[in-house]
Amino acid sequence: MELVFDGHNDVLLRLWRTMKAGGDPIAEYIGGVTNGHIDSPRARAGGLAGGFCAIYIPSGDLILKEPGASGHYDTPLAAPLVLEPSLEIALEKTAIALRLGRAGAWRICRSTADIRQAMADGVFASVLHMEGCEPIDADLDNLEVFYAAGLRSLGPVWSRNNIFGHGVPFSYPKSPDAGPGLTEAGFELVRACNRMGILVDLAHITERGFWDVAKITDQPLVASHSNAHALTPVARNLTDRQLDAIRETKGIVGLNYAVTMLRPDARDSADTPISDMVRHVDYLVERMGIEHVALGSDFDGATIPAAIGDAGGTQNLVAALRGAGYGDDDLKKICRENWLRILASAWRE
Ligand SMILES: [Zn+2]
Repeated sequence: MELVFDGHNDVLLRLWRTMKAGGDPIAEYIGGVTNGHIDSPRARAGGLAGGFCAIYIPSGDLILKEPGASGHYDTPLAAPLVLEPSLEIALEKTAIALRLGRAGAWRICRSTADIRQAMADGVFASVLHMEGCEPIDADLDNLEVFYAAGLRSLGPVWSRNNIFGHGVPFSYPKSPDAGPGLTEAGFELVRACNRMGILVDLAHITERGFWDVAKITDQPLVASHSNAHALTPVARNLTDRQLDAIRETKGIVGLNYAVTMLRPDARDSADTPISDMVRHVDYLVERMGIEHVALGSDFDGATIPAAIGDAGGTQNLVAALRGAGYGDDDLKKICRENWLRILASAWRE
């Protein structure tokens, strides 16, 4: 089994919904369920040993557009959110993460040594990530508090505009050059992340925002859960120029298992072969090199191929990559070592 450290999941979103419905998110994670993608038993069975766990504020008004006769679709951006209710949700999700840590169900990691130790101990290594910084104020006071709670990674925006920048819509086909980039507050946020040792994630940001970050950051460029635009031209995927910049900064792209970002027709169908995942990995590796490709499942955040199913099916992808010619050394890099190298750099170890 090849242990995987993964670039993105939304398990905290599912557990938060469980809590809001009156359930016990800690018991659900420890005991396991049949809905969703990640819990302790399924993560262990699939060799999903750790990953970035997103603190994400849902957009209630977002309804994905059905494809037209051409198969094309164009979903408008969700409306901007306001700070206070976003902060409240972020605190609730952070509390679930901290309680999972307190219960020993996973370990919140703040260094690559923490991650390696958790993986060696067989405890899920959780890195807290904020996906869209609506809970953060322009003065970045809340950033200090979330950092103290363990936050070590953030994306300035989700597919939505906020005080820090502009996100890309869920549209096909569409260029990621879909709007303006960072705001002045966004530049300040990136500078603060550089100072504090917080990873800056470029998934969901517009292409102009991507170049804005590239101009000022001293970290490798990172897209935690995105694929190749050349194969699946959705606005969320990365152009060849972006991939080249990621390679030049020794950055990384985590393969997103979301079928809409894998299939040539971008349709939301779980009946998507693993070969579509391998095709994207092949393309990313050819364009950037093996050092710059990793995994970023989007478990609990998207429709994924039925052949993977949930976290328990993670090794099916590993087996497919092995079958496509990736050797032990390549798989070790794709499955975890590339992420650990990036984190050591962003965290200034
Ligand atoms: Zn996402």
